[in-house]
Amino acid sequence: MTPDVSGTPSPRTLIEHFPALAEHARPATLLRPSAGAPGLYDSSVGGPVLWPSDEPWPTCRAPHLVYKREKLSDRDRETLQDIDRRMKERRQARGGGAYEIAAEDARTQERIMAGAGVLDKITWERIRSVSEPHALPAPMIPVLQLFSRDVPGLPCPPGTDLLQLLWCPDDHAEPPGQPGYWGPSVEVRFRSAAGVTEIHEPPGPPQETKGGYVPRPCVLEPVGVIDLPDRDELPEALVEAAENWAEERGLEYARTFGCLPGWKAGGWPSWHLTDLVPIDCVCGSRMRLLLTVDSGEAPGLRVGRSGELRVFVCPSDDSHPFRLNIQ
Ligand SMILES: [Zn+2]
Ligand SMILES: [Zn+2]
Repeated sequence: MTPDVSGTPSPRTLIEHFPALAEHARPATLLRPSAGAPGLYDSSVGGPVLWPSDEPWPTCRAPHLVYKREKLSDRDRETLQDIDRRMKERRQARGGGAYEIAAEDARTQERIMAGAGVLDKITWERIRSVSEPHALPAPMIPVLQLFSRDVPGLPCPPGTDLLQLLWCPDDHAEPPGQPGYWGPSVEVRFRSAAGVTEIHEPPGPPQETKGGYVPRPCVLEPVGVIDLPDRDELPEALVEAAENWAEERGLEYARTFGCLPGWKAGGWPSWHLTDLVPIDCVCGSRMRLLLTVDSGEAPGLRVGRSGELRVFVCPSDDSHPFRLNIQ
């Protein structure tokens, strides 16, 4: 056994027991952010980024989601209250159980909601999300900066040693090139740190931000690990044997051996909310996980339902556009 510092068996231990897992293992770096005051030349979350003065600061032009409130008429409000009352009465008459809506009432409700997603029953307003362009191109904010010296194996294109991720801290429904994605619009840049001689002053804070999308500054304490895939990406017999082995030791395969949690460079993505969603490049290649941005911890972000935002890149050609996924 090769227990890690915490005494829990590591993915390496599992591979010793199941050598067939070795071909599925990938190196990863757990970034381990903690509150701090990172500098321009540090790997960081939410810290300053080394951005050249002769390159425009990235801005977002993708439409963002605006939540519009629409006051219901007194008549519509009363109709909805009557529907609620009838549901409660039916439930009471049955002695509990689920609330059931009559088909006709459901049609009325649908008519009154008029395509809006949410009803605020305190103010009696329909809340509708609408995609609208930003009033002005919105300056992006730094989320992550990684120097390859801190993250061995970071897939930096030739001549680069620095990875930067910035985003527009607002919700966007399927920004350009990101089908099925809903969240901040993201910009990823690789560059040569030595090539940045004059530093771009960051612009003022963005006009619009959504709570949970502005990271608190953190320094990183990266550690190299071996990561194994989610059960959906392994042969069934192999993953079942590994899961049984883990269970006998009071452990779970996922998140202890496979798809290690937290801020991460490389490794494997977890598919804990949906089944495996194949993320394919425009060239047809199955894309590889580049980065995982996590909710909570010291940076205090909240992506998805307190989930993980993952950035995937093409393994065949680093000029192909990246893809985003939230889980
Ligand atoms: Zn935006
Ligand atoms: Zn590609």
